[in-house]
Amino acid sequence: MDQTEIINLFKETNVIQTGHFELSSGRHTDTYLQCAQILQYPEYTNKLAVEIANLWENEDIDLVVGPAIGGIVISYAVASKMGSRNIFSERKNGEMKFRRNLEVKENEKVLIVEDVVTTGGSVREVIDLLEDFMADIVGISSLVDRSNGQVEFAYTFKPLIQLKVDSYKEDECKFCKKRIPINKPGSKKVKSWI
Ligand SMILES: [Zn+2]
Repeated sequence: MDQTEIINLFKETNVIQTGHFELSSGRHTDTYLQCAQILQYPEYTNKLAVEIANLWENEDIDLVVGPAIGGIVISYAVASKMGSRNIFSERKNGEMKFRRNLEVKENEKVLIVEDVVTTGGSVREVIDLLEDFMADIVGISSLVDRSNGQVEFAYTFKPLIQLKVDSYKEDECKFCKKRIPINKPGSKKVKSWI
């Protein structure tokens, strides 16, 4: 699948939603991303996992690591295609860790798989964690690079698609000026189940 086909699939499955949204940062945007929408369908998840696995077909990956929560499902699916192990990292008291006795062996060849990369903060925390374990980090993939190629890591980064999502301060938002009703999908109320 090329970028356009993947973008179309993301639109069909409501991963890419257009309208007038308030992000958790408080900024307003016309594009909202929700990867969980496509990951509820194993058939589509497997298709995306094949695409990611193909990007790394010349590498022997021992372990795929996904940061919780967004990276859990897709990293598992990618590991399944690669025939490798899969674990997830999670935050405890604000610190990214492997819990539940999950471990990384020294020199294991590791691929990090995330759903959306915006600033790359979570991925960098996973990189630090893996470096503590002396893992051999091969690279990083994500379903979406929302920074449109602006984010940089110390290891190779291969996203499935790159998007440029503009956002605006509330008082500069052209959709507010047109009095288009706002949707707050990232509000704390919605996230309270975490
Ligand atoms: Zn607005």
